[in-house]
Amino acid sequence: MRKTRVMVWNENIHERESEKIREIYPSGIHEAIAEGLRECDSFDVKTATMDMPEYGLDQNTLENTDVLIWWSHLAHAQIPDEVAERVRTRVLDGMGFIVLHSSHLCKPFVKLMGTCCRSKWRENDEKERIWIIEPAHPIAHGLPEFIELPCEETYGERFEIPTPDELVFVSWFSGGEVFRSGACWKRGLGKIFYFRPGHEAYPTFYREDIRQVLKNAADWAKPSCGPKPTLGNVKTPYENVKLVDRSDEFHP
Ligand code: ZN
Repeated sequence: MRKTRVMVWNENIHERESEKIREIYPSGIHEAIAEGLRECDSFDVKTATMDMPEYGLDQNTLENTDVLIWWSHLAHAQIPDEVAERVRTRVLDGMGFIVLHSSHLCKPFVKLMGTCCRSKWRENDEKERIWIIEPAHPIAHGLPEFIELPCEETYGERFEIPTPDELVFVSWFSGGEVFRSGACWKRGLGKIFYFRPGHEAYPTFYREDIRQVLKNAADWAKPSCGPKPTLGNVKTPYENVKLVDRSDEFHP
């Protein structure tokens, strides 16, 4: 069986522009995330950043990606609509999509959700306790009852997302807020997981428990290689609708 091709994409701006953030993530947040995933032999892990040609998200790269992990904060609006649409289409075709922290406002995620995806937030060095509320879910594999982060950015409800298909984690913050912090959706043939922690000012992506979540999530989100829907024999009144046979994809 071939390895799951995982790409970690990062806007990579805070790390270049802020000495304080660069001290935490000297090779960028993407490399810290990739380092954790590379502990797993079943993944072939690559990274890409926004300063690459085509924003690191050209068609060929996406077609050779099984699971895309995304971190962004400052540059959501800099991603052209056609690039966001390319990512969205690949998710509908079966690519897994893991959306981290402030990436809840990135264009491909907002397009896939169909809602505003805004939330309450506060930078106040508060404690976050992530409760694993679905211990039998594959993303919860090997985790304790809760994960406690001594300092993180605070997010709060209401988080403007469609009701998740599965809610795996709920966070509590010492300031009093709660937040749906680990949420799953299916869109088309693709699986999507939103995971809340990972503010750039904290070393969250070096933690073993957080890395375990990302490994579990990448494994869960990979294309299932189940039968592709074939619609060619369906009689439809929509004469101009073109039906694409994608039955060969994801069948290595
Ligand atoms: Zn943040």
